Amino acid sequence: MTNDFPPRRGGIESFVHALADRLGDVVVYTATMPGSEEVDAALPYPVVRDRSTMLVPTRRVRDAVVRTMREHECDRVLFGASMPLGLLSRAVRAAGAQRVVAVTHGHEVWWARLPGTRQALRRAGDGVDALTDISDWTRAQIGRALSPAGRAKQTRLAPGVDTERFHPGCGGAQVRQDLGFDDSTPVVVCAARLVRRKGQDTLIDAWPQVLAQVPDARLVIVGGGPYRARLEQRAQRRGVAEAVTFAGLVEHMTEWMDAADVFAMPSRSRLLGLEAEGLGIVFLEAMACGKPVIVGRSGGAPEATEDGVTGYVVNPRDAEEVARRVVQLLTDRAAAARMGALGRERVLASWQWDQVGATARRLLDVE
Ligand code: GDP
Repeated sequence: MTNDFPPRRGGIESFVHALADRLGDVVVYTATMPGSEEVDAALPYPVVRDRSTMLVPTRRVRDAVVRTMREHECDRVLFGASMPLGLLSRAVRAAGAQRVVAVTHGHEVWWARLPGTRQALRRAGDGVDALTDISDWTRAQIGRALSPAGRAKQTRLAPGVDTERFHPGCGGAQVRQDLGFDDSTPVVVCAARLVRRKGQDTLIDAWPQVLAQVPDARLVIVGGGPYRARLEQRAQRRGVAEAVTFAGLVEHMTEWMDAADVFAMPSRSRLLGLEAEGLGIVFLEAMACGKPVIVGRSGGAPEATEDGVTGYVVNPRDAEEVARRVVQLLTDRAAAARMGALGRERVLASWQWDQVGATARRLLDVE
């Protein structure tokens, strides 16, 4: 049961879709979205669309999901996001669910901090059999809202990466050629929504110092968002506009990641830590492409890499430190390549969707 499912696009939607694909005999109960008929028809399992565009735990939605459970003889329930649908845990249990699992992402950190929603999260935690988390950091933050019994149910279920799509050589050469770079042009890619928190501004601030030591270094900023115009102005002001490319929203992230020599996203925390990186799936995607990563110390992001082994964790407010690490990786190409290869190995070892699916099935106690 989820609000986050294709055709809507986003990190949580991809996560829930990848889980649903691996749960075996599954029925997805989700909201109505434009263009859903085509998506649903292509899936090998039934998708039941509620008439609302956003599921909230009302009596009507509760009755509708219970009806669906009975119709399809469901005896396990996974909530694609713990809140607010996790509040239906008692109802689905009464309807025959033997195991109830709720997944948390990053936004539950807000729910855990704000007074009213904190109580609701605590109730959801009390009602489920397992409450999953994506990083130690989100686990600790969410845990603060839970009862001791709820905390005991916290368990890791982090998203994976499709390593058959994200791999070294998955189309980066063409992107580089289209951008007019040659094989030896040193390229740093940052891919994320263009919002303050993601730290594209710090990279731009670091660029004059990078260019002083690596004059042909190029920064490619991938992604869309409200901060774009400000970032473009910033690049002008710093005198680095020529060296910075704004790619906008791209269709295939794979080839843009692969176009990089180094992936960097010095994301930072804002609003007293309320806005922080839950984990940063982009670091895993870049590592799967064999890229060394520069990671901002924010929330759970440092957990995505191994500092000094597969990349570097940096102070995201320190443009000098960011510049130093960029220069280091762009000038010692052999060390950077070694780090990138270790990053790919790390993703292959512990961040694959099939492993995530197996963990989810274990939590639901299904084979
Ligand atoms: P979040 O935006 O804070 O959830 O950041 P994450 O790093 O956890 O996840 C972002 C996801 O969106 C990653 O899978 C990215 O590859 C993807 N993404 C971001 N920008 C783009 C884009 O322009 N195109 C495509 N295809 N994917 C993108």
